[in-house]
Amino acid sequence: MKILVTGGTGYIGSHTVVELMQNGFDVVIVDALFNSQAKAVDAIEKIVGRRPEFESFDLTCRKKTSDFFDRHTDIQGVIHFAAHKAVGESVKEPLKYYRNNVISLINIIDEMSRHNVQNLVFSSSCTVYGQPDPEFLPIPEHAPIKKAESPYGNTKQIAESIIADTIKAEDKIRGIALRYFNPVGAHESAMIGELPNGVPNNLMPYITQTAYGIRPILKVFGNDYPTPDGTPIRDYIHIMDLAKAHVAAIRRMTDGRMKKNFEIFNIGTGTGYSVLDVINSFEKTSGVKLNYEIAPRREGDTIKVWADPSFSNRELGWKAERNLDDMTRSAWKWEQAYRKGETLFE
Ligand code: UDP
Repeated sequence: MKILVTGGTGYIGSHTVVELMQNGFDVVIVDALFNSQAKAVDAIEKIVGRRPEFESFDLTCRKKTSDFFDRHTDIQGVIHFAAHKAVGESVKEPLKYYRNNVISLINIIDEMSRHNVQNLVFSSSCTVYGQPDPEFLPIPEHAPIKKAESPYGNTKQIAESIIADTIKAEDKIRGIALRYFNPVGAHESAMIGELPNGVPNNLMPYITQTAYGIRPILKVFGNDYPTPDGTPIRDYIHIMDLAKAHVAAIRRMTDGRMKKNFEIFNIGTGTGYSVLDVINSFEKTSGVKLNYEIAPRREGDTIKVWADPSFSNRELGWKAERNLDDMTRSAWKWEQAYRKGETLFE
């Protein structure tokens, strides 16, 4: 069975392609390489022993997208990752985000419909929940959606609505939206991992880059929040557990196990960890003393959020298996391999 993975050279995409191929799926990747490297395809081949097909073009181009689907008539499902994802940048350049994230989705759904491709998995985000009210912690899928705090977050909400409305209007297409919590870590081979562009915004790459000496010091954005140690709490999830959730979603669709034509699943571990918990785990698994300081709060940060994954566990038959130490250990292994030039990436 062949799956189109858009954004398949990116962080989550590349790990998911590995997991799909190791579970017997064929994969064709489409990626415009806005924020990733074609070397990911070589790295995937090295891990799996089989090369995914790969085409590089911009999915906002209707004509190119249409030509692609005309040429690949054997695609049976689409996992759509390709999107811009920097929250801060989206505030400064909203149209860049709306244009890319929304138009590419519309083009893909149009072509799926035209070519009778039924199965769509969409990468959504727990940002749609904002800061949940206390009665919704851990947060279930039916919790209210809060007004998005950034154009990026809004594109995820809009995309979920576009998929839901289209599926309601035509029963040919089925969709699953996976709402990811905080993906971190890397494939155990350290051949693929997270490669942030410039200065990282996210905690884990900032930690590993600081430990390696690329950044002088990690700023912990606030320790006066109403949490046990004063730092914000997130549901960090190992990237390989996240990758497996996509295989589970595709199988649920192709095995005809869906209960509704559009389903939404939380993809988290169900456990919340604070920033200091992550730092402590990193110091333990790496043996490196991390240089960090307490700094002012970061504007717009959610205080605490973690998933109720019981619906995913039950319905998808999927459960996160790796713990925080597995996450920090694999993230550090990847950072070192990359910096020492042991990976295929530039
Ligand atoms: N964080 C931090 N210093 C950094 C980057 C992140 O203290 O340099 C904190 C941030 O305030 C948040 C947590 O780490 O509490 C996770 O941040 P990230 O940006 O990775 O994820 P998000 O906030 O989008 O869930």
